[in-house]
Amino acid sequence: MGHHGSASGSILLGLDEFEVAAAEVVDQEWRLAVQTTATTVGCTACGSHARLHARRTVRVRDLPIGGRPVVLAWRKRIWRCVEPACEVRTWTEQRTAIRPRAVLTERARAEACRRVGKDAHAVAAVARDLGVGWATIMRAVTDHGTPLVEDPARLDGVAALGLDETSFLKATRRAPTRYVTGLVDLEDGRLLDVVADRTRVAVHGWLDARPRDWLAQVATVALDPWRGYASALVAPLGHARVVVDHFHAIRLANVVVDQVRRRVQQATLGHRGRKPDPLYRIRKLLLTAAEQLTSRGRVRLRAGLQAGDPTGEVAAAWQGKELLRAVYAATGPVAARAALERFYRWADGVEVAELSRLARTVRAWEVEILAWHVTDGCSNGPTEAVNLLIKKVKRVGHGFRNFTNYRLRLLLHCGVAWRTHQTARLRDRPLRLVT
Ligand SMILES: [Zn+2]
Repeated sequence: MGHHGSASGSILLGLDEFEVAAAEVVDQEWRLAVQTTATTVGCTACGSHARLHARRTVRVRDLPIGGRPVVLAWRKRIWRCVEPACEVRTWTEQRTAIRPRAVLTERARAEACRRVGKDAHAVAAVARDLGVGWATIMRAVTDHGTPLVEDPARLDGVAALGLDETSFLKATRRAPTRYVTGLVDLEDGRLLDVVADRTRVAVHGWLDARPRDWLAQVATVALDPWRGYASALVAPLGHARVVVDHFHAIRLANVVVDQVRRRVQQATLGHRGRKPDPLYRIRKLLLTAAEQLTSRGRVRLRAGLQAGDPTGEVAAAWQGKELLRAVYAATGPVAARAALERFYRWADGVEVAELSRLARTVRAWEVEILAWHVTDGCSNGPTEAVNLLIKKVKRVGHGFRNFTNYRLRLLLHCGVAWRTHQTARLRDRPLRLVT
């Protein structure tokens, strides 16, 4: 058995019930011959002393050691029962650390799941690092991640629930954009679940599966006023206060500003916005909160409107957006009500079709919008933060085709409290060479 001089003595293996019999570096990889520490075993059927019958070597990849890839060659023992009357003849030893037909050790699979889930690394990148295929890593993510995601305790203690739609698959020529609904704990920013589709039925199905106690704890629900979500809540969450939060309302207003800008661009230039077009150049400034604008941004915004908005409709939509923001920024319900009236007067006065439509939606959801001011601690921050995380996972995944994988990856990244995996760490135990 080829030993590799002094370097091997410093390797830490730390795999329970295994010892290193030989170690060498081949092609920049550690090749470790390992075996179990079990030298005497009894027959599982009759208890007689078993004899070593043969050995069979299986090869698996393990976590890198000092940045160097590792291949373990496990010399598996095949035992034979010595009792002639026993029906058991031979059997191969098994260990949970290296499962039958595995290409990776279990700790390497757990680490792969942590990297893809917690750190949102691409499956392909992890596969490359460990020297295995994409499917092997995805299977590890599924095997180790599903129990974490399906743990019912993960959903414990939700007092404020947020509902939000997020696109799952971007539209193609053949199919429209597909959406999913995300359910968020508004107090700690946990993604509780994602359900396929953004319909009332989808949300209702999820709520229906929750225990009565769980539903009773939910005091506040924040949602997107465009969707039919509210009617899904009536039965299971009839006791909860429904609010239209800041995040959703301002998103609607931003959509209006964008719509008007596009329409005016098309009308004045005869084409969709291009890089040098004045309105196109201020498209992001238009969506920035007024008080967040720098003085330079303010100047650019004014100049862009002057050059590209001859009818003043874009400016009117922008003002409408800011007036709706003021409703949320107001201190207390009375001031909010006054701010709301100012928004209505503006929207009714300027007669911009898109803004009028927004005002109709706001009127329909007035109670829920003002309810924002009597709800303590229901912040829009978590929904926004989760949406950013979702975008990150989508970017890494290069567009998902499979909803189950998508849900798993999202929940592993934004819905699971990760603890340090002791099993994924190499412990401080020096390598022992068996001679
Ligand atoms: Zn036996």
